[in-house]
Amino acid sequence: MRILVVEDEKKVASFIRKGLEEQSYTVDVAHDGVQGEQMACENDYDAIILDVLLPSQDGVTTCRNIRSKKVDTPVLMLTALGDTDAKVRGLDSGADDYLTKPFHFEELLARIRALLRRKSQDKSAVLQVGKLILDPVTRKVERDGTPIHLTTREFALLEYLMRNKGQILSRSYIAQHVWNVSFDMESNVIDVYVKLLRKKIDRDFDKPLIRTIVGAGYVLRDEDEND
Ligand code: CA
Repeated sequence: MRILVVEDEKKVASFIRKGLEEQSYTVDVAHDGVQGEQMACENDYDAIILDVLLPSQDGVTTCRNIRSKKVDTPVLMLTALGDTDAKVRGLDSGADDYLTKPFHFEELLARIRALLRRKSQDKSAVLQVGKLILDPVTRKVERDGTPIHLTTREFALLEYLMRNKGQILSRSYIAQHVWNVSFDMESNVIDVYVKLLRKKIDRDFDKPLIRTIVGAGYVLRDEDEND
């Protein structure tokens, strides 16, 4: 999942980035409102963390502008303690939630997970496709009750495929959301990771869940499910 952090305080921005990356999110940082708005409109993020007090353009205006450009990425706004006015204006500008500074990182993570759930319209915290289960909170994965151990990157790839189950995802799309880079066409990094992931989640089970769509990309689905 790819997240944009718009925060001018370098220390806070790098603290958030580091913490999110440890949870295998992919993170971009913008240091002012104008740059944040531009990045939010140019790239397809899964969530945006937006500070209210920003140089060049405040967070409320930035959020309003993003929404007026029909970008519906979930926005978590960071407001100062006791600034009720900013909270109200933030929510009115199209933000989905707010968090008061200073905050505990665990709470930021929980709110981001809630926003991602809302986006994928899946109300349960745990992701499930067939008998494959991934818990974003405990970071445990199992299939048919058998625990599966994944590396950080494999986990990120699987979470992304599961949140978009049934959708064909191109290699370049996966690269942007899971690696935050655009690999050149010759690169087979995605294929290598899909192969590693297949070995762990599909090989020892009777039904493959990850399918290759020739010329298009990959899709994760359970043929017996109606979605
Ligand atoms: Ca700030």
